[in-house]
Amino acid sequence: MLNTGAITTDSLSLLLLDEKKCSADVLRLDKIHPIISGNKWFKLKYYFKKASEEKKQIIITYGGSYSNHIIATACAASEAGLNSIGIIRGERAAVLSPTLLAAEKYGMQLQFISRDEYKRKEDILFRKEIEEKYADALIIPEGGFGYEGIKGAEEILLLVDKAKYTHILCAVGTGTMYAGLVNVSGPTQTVVGICVLKGIENLSIQLDAWAIHNEKKSAHQILHDYHFGGYAKKNDQLIEFINTFYRQTRIPTDFVYTGKLFYAVTELLKNNFFPAGSKLLIIHSGGLQGNNSLTKDTLIF
Ligand SMILES: *Cc1c(COP(=O)(O)O)cnc(C)c1O
Repeated sequence: MLNTGAITTDSLSLLLLDEKKCSADVLRLDKIHPIISGNKWFKLKYYFKKASEEKKQIIITYGGSYSNHIIATACAASEAGLNSIGIIRGERAAVLSPTLLAAEKYGMQLQFISRDEYKRKEDILFRKEIEEKYADALIIPEGGFGYEGIKGAEEILLLVDKAKYTHILCAVGTGTMYAGLVNVSGPTQTVVGICVLKGIENLSIQLDAWAIHNEKKSAHQILHDYHFGGYAKKNDQLIEFINTFYRQTRIPTDFVYTGKLFYAVTELLKNNFFPAGSKLLIIHSGGLQGNNSLTKDTLIF
């Protein structure tokens, strides 16, 4: 079961931090659960609450073959005693990814739709069709992106003494976690999101328009220079960074999200992005099972 008690806030010890007269704590959401790791549990919490209140029997959600959200939803549904359906982008592969195999193991029924069809999944007609077909289902948008997901993500900062920090940093996929963090951050804090997808430079404008309701107007920005070519794209430099970072800190990261986040933090430190005296809180959002798709021996942990 979920173990929020296992979450720690680890102080990061790196020469670079000393050199720049900054300090950093890492919120280890990766320790919460081996499968529903990191931010996924927070993002799912209020969707499952809603399903229970509305007495839904089925959870339906969307994702790709390596989606942490798919596996987390499958696992959470099985723990809640609900059926789950995962609508997966693309044709069914001859050999399913480890993520999808695990989702099936948790009882998720997988339905594969073409990439073109997948793009239409938020269209009103498409949604209506699904809603009519599965009247007793709760539909969770891809990545948990929506009101409930953001509300859950706001609770991440209840785990720390948030007033201590000048900067809060997180990886950005759909931006759900980022929006939640911005909503509960204070006026003297800056939230920095590291986008791991390519080509969604207008995301922050969209989030500001409907999801971010921070009356205190804390500073916030999404950086788009650290996606390494796009979602789940990687190169030798990133893999080498992940291994070196593990050697230095004993903190495991993944190549889709948190590896890029910590890489970005070290680059930002080198470039004097953070004024001396800054106290950073870095959200380790989990997702380590994504590394299972790498060939053995790529990573040292
Ligand atoms: C899903 C995920 C994210 C992205 O969260 P969003 O709320 O979609 O931006 C970040 N880190 C990890 C490890 C994830 O699995």
